[in-house]
Amino acid sequence: MSKKMTNAQLFDRAQAAIPGGVNSPVRAFGSVGGTPRFLVKAKGPYVYDSEGIEYVDLIASWGPAILGHANRRAVKAVQKAAAKGLSFGASSPGETILAELIEQRVSPVDRVRLVSTGTEATMTAIRLARAATGRDLLVKFAGHYHGHSDGLLAAAGSGLATFALPGSAGVPAPIAAQTLVIPYNDPDALRAVFAEHGEKIAAVITEAAPANMGVVPPLPGFNAAMTAIAHEHGALIIFDEVLTGFRVGAAGFWGVEDKSKDSSGYRPDLFCFGKVIGGGLPVAAIGGRRDIMELLAPLGPVYQAGTLSGNPVAVAAGIATLQGLTPRVYKKLDRTARTIADAASAALSQVSVPHRIQWAGNLFSIVFGEEAAISGLHDYAAVQRQESWRYPPFFHAMLNAGVSLPPSLFEAWFVTAAHDQRAIDRILTALPKAAKAADTATPPVA
Ligand SMILES: *Cc1c(COP(=O)(O)O)cnc(C)c1O
Repeated sequence: MSKKMTNAQLFDRAQAAIPGGVNSPVRAFGSVGGTPRFLVKAKGPYVYDSEGIEYVDLIASWGPAILGHANRRAVKAVQKAAAKGLSFGASSPGETILAELIEQRVSPVDRVRLVSTGTEATMTAIRLARAATGRDLLVKFAGHYHGHSDGLLAAAGSGLATFALPGSAGVPAPIAAQTLVIPYNDPDALRAVFAEHGEKIAAVITEAAPANMGVVPPLPGFNAAMTAIAHEHGALIIFDEVLTGFRVGAAGFWGVEDKSKDSSGYRPDLFCFGKVIGGGLPVAAIGGRRDIMELLAPLGPVYQAGTLSGNPVAVAAGIATLQGLTPRVYKKLDRTARTIADAASAALSQVSVPHRIQWAGNLFSIVFGEEAAISGLHDYAAVQRQESWRYPPFFHAMLNAGVSLPPSLFEAWFVTAAHDQRAIDRILTALPKAAKAADTATPPVA
């Protein structure tokens, strides 16, 4: 494909070869409209499309590019590893180093098994929890995303604490019915589901801090209360830190809370990681207590495997990325996120658009509307009630000014350590016009 093809031409051609022209749905711009940008290059805080346009990037590959795109150390490590062979199908030393780096940073994690995607990590964590408890049911919260395995594509049925319905065509109803979907941030709903099904529940799976319905942080003490309730009933906690792990701090969101007053020292049983730990290549992991983790084959009866698990090139990217994530880098990420979010909020306030910035460490997103402004949004139903129609014009105003935001209101904004003053200035300059676009947006006619 020649350099001269436009984004629109590339999208047309892709749609004739790939369903919807994309290999992951959000990339199709379905919720904001317009033509997806086809990227050909990325460096530091910038991405470049096929038409040669530069954008300040606030997607960061959905998190992995935390040090900035094409980070020199990570690229060097990958090149060095690649030159020695792309894959062995046998053990290599880097896998142990990456596992140790994770275990050193997240203290409840005694053992780590590497896989290639977050979807695999949560799928295996659930199998482990079922094997460890001898129970089948799983509790998940509405609006939390844990990848696309059948049992986790489960949607809340009608009424409270009901067995889930398939969340996608092709998911068998009996599989969805193994999952109980309840509202988030509601300890009473959790107590109710355990009161009714307690002795059959293997685990509660939760995003450590949800960021796949926009950022909806746990209310103070919720994660601790959830862990206490589950443990009281002999169920495990699967802490999905695929997105938050090593992004919001060296010990993920668990570490952020562990240092705060809200923790009561809660300890999840299993963790899932992904995104950052591959530094842009496919690495994810399940980690947790030794007694549970050693139920995995070859030691135990729980089967799990992967042709490319612990791939030497991917692992090299992950090691370089984790090693680059110093306390100074986390401080900078916090500062950069604060600067951008404050400016976005100020621009929206300037034109009186009701909104709030919701936070989880250095992750944030905007929620729109009076309810959002007054009380914040704490669960999926609330997030769906917001004035989401304000986002597409806001998004496109930013894109036209050379800033690439997530093409959906229901995603977090991701800063990188490479966002420097030039990149930040472009964002700050673009915001007032985008805020105006959000202000003059109109709700869809019913
Ligand atoms: C991205 C994500 C997943 C799925 O990871 P993939 O690598 O896309 O399969 C699971 N859980 C959370 C919280 C995620 O953000």
